[in-house]
Amino acid sequence: MTLPAALTELASFLGDRLSRSKSDLAIHGRSEAHFAETAPDAVAYPETTEEVSRLVQVCAANGVPVVGWGAGTSLEGHALAVRGGVVVDFGRMARLLSVDADDMLCTVEPGVTRRRLNEELRATGLFFPVDPGADASLGGMASTRASGTTAVRYGTMRDNVLGLTVVLADGRVIRTGSRARNSAAGYDLTALFVGAEGTLGLITELTLRLRGQPEAVTAGVCAFPDTASAVAAVIATIQSGVPMARIEYLDAASAAAFNAYAGADFPELPHLMVEFHGSEAGAAEDAARFGEIADEFGCLGFRWSAEAEARNRLWRMRHDAYHAIIATRPGARPLVTDICVPISRLAEAIEETAAEIAASPIAGPILGHVGDGNFHATLLIDPEAPGELEAARTLAARMNERALRLGGTVTGEHGIGMGKMRYMEGEHGAAWAVMAELKRALDPAGIMNPGKVVEAD
Ligand SMILES: Cc1cc2nc3c(=O)[nH]c(=O)nc-3n(C[C@H](O)[C@H](O)[C@H](O)COP(=O)(O)OP(=O)(O)OC[C@H]3O[C@@H](n4cnc5c(N)ncnc54)[C@H](O)[C@@H]3O)c2cc1C
Repeated sequence: MTLPAALTELASFLGDRLSRSKSDLAIHGRSEAHFAETAPDAVAYPETTEEVSRLVQVCAANGVPVVGWGAGTSLEGHALAVRGGVVVDFGRMARLLSVDADDMLCTVEPGVTRRRLNEELRATGLFFPVDPGADASLGGMASTRASGTTAVRYGTMRDNVLGLTVVLADGRVIRTGSRARNSAAGYDLTALFVGAEGTLGLITELTLRLRGQPEAVTAGVCAFPDTASAVAAVIATIQSGVPMARIEYLDAASAAAFNAYAGADFPELPHLMVEFHGSEAGAAEDAARFGEIADEFGCLGFRWSAEAEARNRLWRMRHDAYHAIIATRPGARPLVTDICVPISRLAEAIEETAAEIAASPIAGPILGHVGDGNFHATLLIDPEAPGELEAARTLAARMNERALRLGGTVTGEHGIGMGKMRYMEGEHGAAWAVMAELKRALDPAGIMNPGKVVEAD
């Protein structure tokens, strides 16, 4: 009943798909954020649900932790094996199993990435709308309940996963949900595993809801003299019922980072980037209507286009923002915050945050999916510089307290991982202990991604 016994047994059926190579352990010991590197004991590359089930049974029998790994883009150290054990990399379970155009759904293995899914769907006239920017895996996106630029129109992973196949902590395989759009059949286990961050089981198949590709898309960008005007324009747009597909805020520091990274020439002011989906006339009308609203709030010239090339350039820049911001301080590591507040409190949340960052020694450009009240400060720190990590943590803590005070949440989309555990009690009170009870019921030995989301030891 030990780690060596487990690894010997796993190697007996995975062969060289159980890796202990230095490079594999190093790659799977790193995260996108500032967390210390933590190599697992081994990395497994299963190819079927049956192999995942057998792997989990072996680990359960030997008390070895099991940590899922999709694309490794999560931002709170979610996929780090902080208590050692086996990282299960789903890179070889990356098949698009079926597309059902009539029912507008598809079934995929967890390692399929969102970009590849949409490339494969292109000819069908359908697409999968959740877009977290990074080319994340669908298994990882479901496990973090990911959101992104299009959530204001199409919802998050919570709204777009219809059913799952899950391997539980004892190796049992269950199916949740169905292919129907709605169901009132008992506890919603799909919703339980979406956002569980691999702490309750491993997802080996997902049935996803698809949408029709819009006939026309318009996108545009405009600068505002200050944050309050930009946010007021967002609120007015939402209240006027203009159906936005994306509405993103960037502060002046983010615009400057874009300019330096991509050779762009944005005015160094707060900006909104927007997109509208519909018929040709409808998408153009929506863009024009947004332009009128933006004008009322002092926007400095709204430029929009229906051309795919201009649009793709705009969103490529938005998606590169994270790297553009990190590039402003070579060698820095990011501590990315992620608060979400009711839309009516958004302006004060951003303004108070910006003022605190300005008064601190830490740089932290702000951007976010403001149509949902969600925004991020990317706090840039030199982990070797005394006091910087602590100063960034203090700023992050103040943001999280602010989110709770304003009726929001400490994470709109990135999830808990290790980084947000300390805020869970503040956000959920006694409900956090109920989450730990659920964890203990489904994973009594605590082998599934231990040290994340709940304290269940
Ligand atoms: C540049 C950048 C931009 C980002 N923008 C956004 C954004 O706009 N919105 C957003 O929501 N996120 C964003 N993120 C964060 C990240 O992309 C998401 O959290 C994403 O959902 C993680 O997917 P992944 O495949 O990389 O998962 P991983 O990082 O590999 O894993 C995430 C978690 O899921 C678990 N897991 C993975 N696969 C499985 C499985 N099959 N079964 C059970 N558990 C599993 C892991 O154990 C871990 O706990 C961004 C990240 C970066 C780097």
